Amino acid sequence: MSEEVKGAGSEVPGGDPVPRRVLKFGGTSVTGGARLDVIDQVVRERLQACVPVLVVSAFGGVTNLLVRVAGEAALGAFVSTQEEIERRHREAVLELTGDAREVVAILNEHLTELDRLLRGIALVGECSPRTLDHVLSFGERLSAEIIAAGLYVRGLPAQAVDASEWIVTDGRYGEAEVDMIATEARIRERAVPDGVVAVVTGFLGATPSGTRTTLGRGGSDYTASILGAAMNADEVEIWTDVDGVMTADPRIVSDARTLPSISYDELLELSHWGARVVHPKTVRPLRERGIPLVIRNTMAPSRPGTRVGRAETVDENGPVRGIASVDNVALLQLSGWAGANRSIAARLLSALDAAGAKVLLVSQASSERSVCVAVHGDSLVAAKAAVAAEFDMERRAGVLDGLVIEEACSVVAVVGDAMKARPGVAGRIFGILGDCGVNIRAIAQGSSELNISFVVTRRDVGTAVRATHASFFTPQTLTAQIFLAGPGRVGKEFLRQLGDVTGASGSDKLKLVGLARGSRAVVRAKGIDLARWSEDLEAGGGDLEALVEAALGWPHRPRIFVDCTASPEPAAAYVRLLRAGVAVVSANKIAFSSSGEGYEALRRAQREGGRLYYETTVGAGLPVLRPLADLLATGDRVERIEGILSGTAGFILDEVMKGVAFSDAVRQAHALGYTEPDPRLDLSGTDIARKLVILAREAGIDLHMADVDVTPLSDCGTDGSVEEFWEALPSSDARIAALRDEALARGGRLIYLARVTREAASIGLEIVAAEHPCSAQSGPQNVFVIESRRYKESPLVVRGPGAGPEVTAAGVFADVLRARAEAAEPPGRKPDT
Ligand code: ASP
Ligand code: MG
Repeated sequence: MSEEVKGAGSEVPGGDPVPRRVLKFGGTSVTGGARLDVIDQVVRERLQACVPVLVVSAFGGVTNLLVRVAGEAALGAFVSTQEEIERRHREAVLELTGDAREVVAILNEHLTELDRLLRGIALVGECSPRTLDHVLSFGERLSAEIIAAGLYVRGLPAQAVDASEWIVTDGRYGEAEVDMIATEARIRERAVPDGVVAVVTGFLGATPSGTRTTLGRGGSDYTASILGAAMNADEVEIWTDVDGVMTADPRIVSDARTLPSISYDELLELSHWGARVVHPKTVRPLRERGIPLVIRNTMAPSRPGTRVGRAETVDENGPVRGIASVDNVALLQLSGWAGANRSIAARLLSALDAAGAKVLLVSQASSERSVCVAVHGDSLVAAKAAVAAEFDMERRAGVLDGLVIEEACSVVAVVGDAMKARPGVAGRIFGILGDCGVNIRAIAQGSSELNISFVVTRRDVGTAVRATHASFFTPQTLTAQIFLAGPGRVGKEFLRQLGDVTGASGSDKLKLVGLARGSRAVVRAKGIDLARWSEDLEAGGGDLEALVEAALGWPHRPRIFVDCTASPEPAAAYVRLLRAGVAVVSANKIAFSSSGEGYEALRRAQREGGRLYYETTVGAGLPVLRPLADLLATGDRVERIEGILSGTAGFILDEVMKGVAFSDAVRQAHALGYTEPDPRLDLSGTDIARKLVILAREAGIDLHMADVDVTPLSDCGTDGSVEEFWEALPSSDARIAALRDEALARGGRLIYLARVTREAASIGLEIVAAEHPCSAQSGPQNVFVIESRRYKESPLVVRGPGAGPEVTAAGVFADVLRARAEAAEPPGRKPDT
């Protein structure tokens, strides 16, 4: 029988050795019949595959009652507390065992012994630490007996074990140290018989000569890990009243979550910083042997809990595992000249240590003349006195600037094993804190790189923890908040496409929250229904300015302002929007082709991080501006761009080449909706000039509208009415027909060509050879021919539909998606995957 509880467990005939499994149930987990049901069920499940060894705490609150009764006994008045202790256990015996005869007898025996002890304390009027440990032992001894009896009544072969028989400690009462080797030997010698489920008292031990000791408050967890290590258990389960280790304190962070796994070191570090789920001593014996520790919730036994193991076994992503904080911290700053021989830091730390002040964090800059330490508020008085005594001489000599104390501080610790392998974690943390206006008073990173801790004022601790947590743990859904100005032809189509992709109410990626047209605006945080936006807009008040204001003050991120108008008002708001962090997507050429102060301010805002997207201002949805920007960014130099930048002009001249009279071709284009309502806008070349300016600028050529030499397509100017224009139009037919004939004779083609080089920019009718890429144009297509240092022999050609609501809206949509993606990953803020 002595071999039973040793090593890997007993042998099943012909099978593998059956492993031991230590299951510890804390105070709240053993109190009440419902809890015993859970214990009973867990034990039965474990019995299928292993030999369960239970460790139990005293019933909830009993240890505190025992501490109280011992104190009261020393003063001579302990009866009512003693009665409460007795009542609680009698009730437990009744509830858990139905007053099983054997356990009632044991209870009476224990209560009599306790009574004698308390009378003894009352008699001498004093309770030594050694006696207190004896008093406290009744909590666990009673709970182990009652739980064993309760399980026995339910048909399990349970038997209580007093751990003072097993766990050998030194004589430091109240916080005894365990002798592991002696303990292992005892457990081997005094094993319970095969087939018995031991219910072991937590928290208790005894000196080699048999005097009772305790392992420190909360020490039952430690008991479980001592037994786990001594028996070489396959696992230690700690059943408690929380789900496990969380990413942050749920009272501070509402969406803190339970970690499925964490490393021993991470758990130790988090407990050091106040995130106490298990007794800090619990980890060490298991860590040495690599025995996993699993934390489970007795109140919710189906939840998986947290598994603690070696770093390699942790199945979690991201560099950070948890964020903890300690309040009631004081920051001490000492500076001055403290003699040549010893640094201020060395003297300060040893003085604090001698005074028993708990130093949480130290930070010293390059000069040895100043140091900053964070101490727990409880040790502030002792710390102050120690510093005053140590530096008394310097202070009197006037070489010390004195001690600056800042109370009401907190330490926040960001913990994770993987931080050491990942650069940028500290930068990210401090960036976030800067963004939310939290001032950092001192910083320290442990040499193990397991944690980055920093001091903030108490007032900021919530913000600091929440912001850091959000950055590392909150899945970033990043619903783009879209504000649209001008649902005209393009804007309407954009809304239709958006609805097709996201459904009428938007998605978790894209949501329309604001809309303005003319003197109407509607803004809705929940999102505007894409199936009935026009009704909403009709009913809305406000105007474009209201939309801009809404975007500026909007609480959600990222915000995207979309300009589908052709008017100057929204453009005037771009700089304000960009400076406030709103991305701007524009199909409106005005801002980008203008010159002067407004334009300079726009570019400055963009250079300073404003996100601006305007691919559709040239060639509608065709990719032209972005490829140009890419050429530049990769060190190419654009020498020349030429092409057909107007779908209207393209269509008209394509018809002319087929033999149609110029004026008839313009009429056709008008009838097909290719022209503006006033076709003169297309024929004057101004709109093309705007595109050419935007193109040139994107290509790194500083071009202004006034520099473009524009020859209008038709001879009739822009004076007079539209009717007069139509009447006068045929007067251009002969000139253009002659040019066409010449083009045909040369085997070429007549086009309305826009061109910009490093020297000049022009727009006008030209005959190009058949090999020219513009000769392949047909209908309302646009053609862009880009010549650069790299694209010299064979230029880069982009050809395709350069107008029309559908392709333009699709281009706007693509810019919106790009804006959203780039908002999700601004520099240095990459969310971990
Ligand atoms: N009953 C002891 C205490 O309350 C030990 C434990 O619960 O872990 O400190
Ligand atoms: Mg690092």
